[in-house]
Amino acid sequence: MSLHAPRRLLFSFCTLAILAIGGFLSYESWQLYRSELDRVQSSLESETVLLAEHAQLAFATANRLLADIAWEQHQGTMVSSLNSRPMQQRVMNTTQFVGLVVTDEAGASVYAVTKRPLPPDSFANLSNLQAHRLGASLIVGRPLSSGGEASRVIPISQRLVDNQGKFAGVAMVLLDAAYFRDFYRNVIKDQTLRISMLHRDGSVLSLYPSPPNELPTSAEGLAALVSTQQADTLRLVSPLDGSERLAAYRNLQQWPVAVAISLGHEAFLNELMPAFRRNGILFLLFAGGGVLCTMLISRSMGEVYRARDDRTMALREQASTLQLCHAIASRLPNGRVFVLDRQYRYEFVEGHLGDNCPALEPSAMLGRHIDEIYPVETVSKLKPLIANALNGQESEGEIAYRGRVFRTFGTPLPDDDGRIQRCLLLSQDITQFKADQALLVTMNYELHRQASTDGLLGIANRREFDRRLEQEWQRSLRERQPLSLLLLDVDYFKRYNDAYGHAEGDVCLQQIATSVAGVIQRPADLAARYGGEELAVLLPNTDLEGAQHVAQRIHAHQAELALSFPESPIASHVTVSIGVATAVPLVDDAAAQLVEHADQALYAAKEAGRNCTKAMPSNPEAGLSFLKRLA
Ligand code: GH3
Ligand code: MG
Ligand code: MG
Repeated sequence: MSLHAPRRLLFSFCTLAILAIGGFLSYESWQLYRSELDRVQSSLESETVLLAEHAQLAFATANRLLADIAWEQHQGTMVSSLNSRPMQQRVMNTTQFVGLVVTDEAGASVYAVTKRPLPPDSFANLSNLQAHRLGASLIVGRPLSSGGEASRVIPISQRLVDNQGKFAGVAMVLLDAAYFRDFYRNVIKDQTLRISMLHRDGSVLSLYPSPPNELPTSAEGLAALVSTQQADTLRLVSPLDGSERLAAYRNLQQWPVAVAISLGHEAFLNELMPAFRRNGILFLLFAGGGVLCTMLISRSMGEVYRARDDRTMALREQASTLQLCHAIASRLPNGRVFVLDRQYRYEFVEGHLGDNCPALEPSAMLGRHIDEIYPVETVSKLKPLIANALNGQESEGEIAYRGRVFRTFGTPLPDDDGRIQRCLLLSQDITQFKADQALLVTMNYELHRQASTDGLLGIANRREFDRRLEQEWQRSLRERQPLSLLLLDVDYFKRYNDAYGHAEGDVCLQQIATSVAGVIQRPADLAARYGGEELAVLLPNTDLEGAQHVAQRIHAHQAELALSFPESPIASHVTVSIGVATAVPLVDDAAAQLVEHADQALYAAKEAGRNCTKAMPSNPEAGLSFLKRLA
């Protein structure tokens, strides 16, 4: 199996695990958000109960006062009652009251008691007067301000009727908005909360904490907000400042007023932030740890697989190398294949040697060092071949072992990564081959000798003479050296044969040939049988004078040899006539010319009476040097 599949499995598992923990932590955060939202909203809701009861109480106190004044009016005792001290004290001693104003049916003030100066529009703003006149009993008016936030008052007005039920004016209690705000300040410690008292028409009656800007007297949307249900909790965008908030409101019973408490959503989230952050950090730690672990596992997997692949490759490589060695060994005639490691130990030995070869069995060599197998002199020849191969160089040599000769070839066996951990030796027993080769050389030599030697006289034959003549002619042409030729003919030999018989003639000829061969001294000189009883002597690098000198020595040797020949008309022993020709070969000349001239000189010697030498320069150059010498 390749590394790809398990790695993909590992990465998929890691991704799934990270997604799962991410999902779990997100779900947990969402659950926390939901439960905190529920908790905050129910807490806000319960706080509205308290706020509503407080407001209810304040409004009820005002209502009782107004009801008392209305009753007095109906009884016709209102004026005296208003001016009585208890009434004044009742107004002045009730904390939430700022004052009390009573008007007649035309709206003119008939009574006013206040704790502080009333807003200038207090009476002009009695827009509710008309409503009361038309029959409205109790009205909570829009908040009034005599200037500044602190002086805001909430007017609550009551229709007054006389004892005949006729409209008789309006009594109005002014509630102090600051009273509520102070109460809210004392009630809530959490500065992120906002508490408001709202009129159902959208007016803001009281608000804590006060906004940095002036308190809005009304805001669009507030009316719709608080007039739908008795009480509710909701998440909304505040009509007052546009911020997102969690809110709860409650309408007062019998009063067109609601109290609302809200918490900024951002502040709410800020409270949850540590938990969210903890979950985020947990996720990052887990994801980072997961990724790190995955990478480490993946890397170790890579190493394990790589090691496995390397091992497999090495085994495959080794197997293919051994297969190759086996193939070579099985086809190598009379030889063996060896593989050695860097310690010069045999790892592989195979191959067949002849039966008479005193080598060890391959199995007995495996694992052993060359020193344990071969004698010192063989090891000293073998070691350089192995060392060269282990150094990356091929080499070969002949190694002697127990009377046999082995041609051995060493070559490196590099691994796949190029390192040479072992080498290959191919060794072939060439003992018989070498012996056969030596015999062949001898036979060749003998064949050549026989082919070039005259059978009777034991000197070179005519074929060898022709070959050597052409060879020496070309050499002399190249080197511009003189080449001389002596043609020698036995005088009156027919008579000799006639006198002593052919066999004796042969013996005589052999003695002359041996004598002539003994005269010539240089290795390049050649004595040959030219034909019949004619001999030729080829003298390379020899001028005419030198050639004549050789001819004279031949005559002298014949005289010394003194082969008895009484039948000869010119001497008592066998004599020879010699024709000498010398040439310094030119490109246009041919060797045959030299022979022709020597033959002509021989003819001249015969003509001159025999037992003498005649010379003829074969070409002008040779003649020139000849004449120079004569002069
Ligand atoms: P000249 O002085 O003119 O040379 O007289 P000659 O008798 O030698 O005449 P020529 O050279 O023409 O005769 C050659 C004779 O040599 C003829 C032949 O019987 C003899 N002869 C040639 N070859 C051999 C040989 O191999 N053995 C013997 N015994 N005689 C040979
Ligand atoms: Mg002859
Ligand atoms: Mg002759």
